[in-house]
Amino acid sequence: MTTNAPIVQDLHTIPRKLPEGPQNIVGLTRDQMRTALIAAGTPERQAKMRVGQVWQWIYHWGVRDFALMTNLAKDYRTLLANTFVIDLPEVVTKQVSADGTRKYLVRIAGGHEVEVVYIPETDRGTLCISSQVGCTLTCSFCHTGTQKLVRNLTAAEIVGQIMLARDDLGEWPVQGDPKNEQRLLSNVVLMGMGEPLYNFDNVRDAMKIAMDPEGISLSRRRITLSTSGVVPEIARTADEIGCQLAISFHATTDEVRDKLVPINKKWPLKELLDALREYPKVSNSERITFEYVMLKGVNDSDADARRLVKLIEGIPAKINLIPFNEWPGAPYQRSDWDRIQSFADIVYKAGYASPIRTPRGEDIMAACGQLKSATERGRRDKAVLNP
Ligand code: SAH
Ligand code: SF4
Repeated sequence: MTTNAPIVQDLHTIPRKLPEGPQNIVGLTRDQMRTALIAAGTPERQAKMRVGQVWQWIYHWGVRDFALMTNLAKDYRTLLANTFVIDLPEVVTKQVSADGTRKYLVRIAGGHEVEVVYIPETDRGTLCISSQVGCTLTCSFCHTGTQKLVRNLTAAEIVGQIMLARDDLGEWPVQGDPKNEQRLLSNVVLMGMGEPLYNFDNVRDAMKIAMDPEGISLSRRRITLSTSGVVPEIARTADEIGCQLAISFHATTDEVRDKLVPINKKWPLKELLDALREYPKVSNSERITFEYVMLKGVNDSDADARRLVKLIEGIPAKINLIPFNEWPGAPYQRSDWDRIQSFADIVYKAGYASPIRTPRGEDIMAACGQLKSATERGRRDKAVLNP
């Protein structure tokens, strides 16, 4: 993308409000739910309490039927059932990799599909969720980037991905069984399809719901938002979400980054680094994750590694080295193992953790940058929209 290039989006598929019919109660913030309950006839003085009750049923217990909300009067349950639905994206297929990674193909309104990936590890279980169908940005090493943006996901569709994964993992608490405290899904990363900071409001609302202590209750320290570098929204992320930040860095000169992550032409390295320096102070987060995809002969030299540590000097950071995940027709190759190791050593000796990310779920095309739903391939609908 060049600085002034239009962003391509299919306007026909921007979510429309259904003219009539029940409203989805999932994805509403507490304030929005309060307003909706009052509009449905809840007396104002009861509204706060009702929000608390409905919220707990949906987000703590995972209940999907108003009739089961037994601490509400029967008539009130009927009123809710006539006014609202509890609607999640639909799981179309589920694939399980040899390494235990689960990939869900999920259908959302309009017939679009996004992918959601669950990665079990010994000390945690991470869910990688999507924020858009496709992406307006065109990072040259990313499979999703070859797919035009179709639309932003709604807050319901974003938090719904966490809820459907909890369904599949069978991890909603069981009433009367306090021992059921295991957390198979302990972390969330916004590293699936799309650029989360080009869908800021919906991502923020969904993450606020996921963090709410009376519901899914994920700590902000267990949510990581990955951005390609939408500089003006980075400060807002610190202020309004306060989660962990990962940055798709990938290059140490503007010349190379312009090619790999074209948004760099709009917000080059210096501006990006200035924004990153402020982030931990404002969000009170520990450190920023720098994601760095290892591309053979492109960004993987020892000189790159040395430039990298120089650039990020003073920023509390961890460098995640990602061996490039190949996809059909990709214009790059994965760096050799020795090269990755030598790069990692330089970064490590400069005082930064430099884990090399083991590709997970490659056999089911679930690894970073491989996500792209088959149904979206070859889609050609276009219109012009500025983010
Ligand atoms: N749009 C956001 C989040 C989604 S991409 C962003 O760009 O940060 C999640 C991570 O996967 C990013 O760091 C991205 O650069 C990386 N990635 C994309 N394609 C990849 C590939 N083919 N191999 C390895 N990592 C890739
Ligand atoms: Fe979009 Fe991120 Fe892929 Fe770039 S790396 S095209 S921003 S999803």
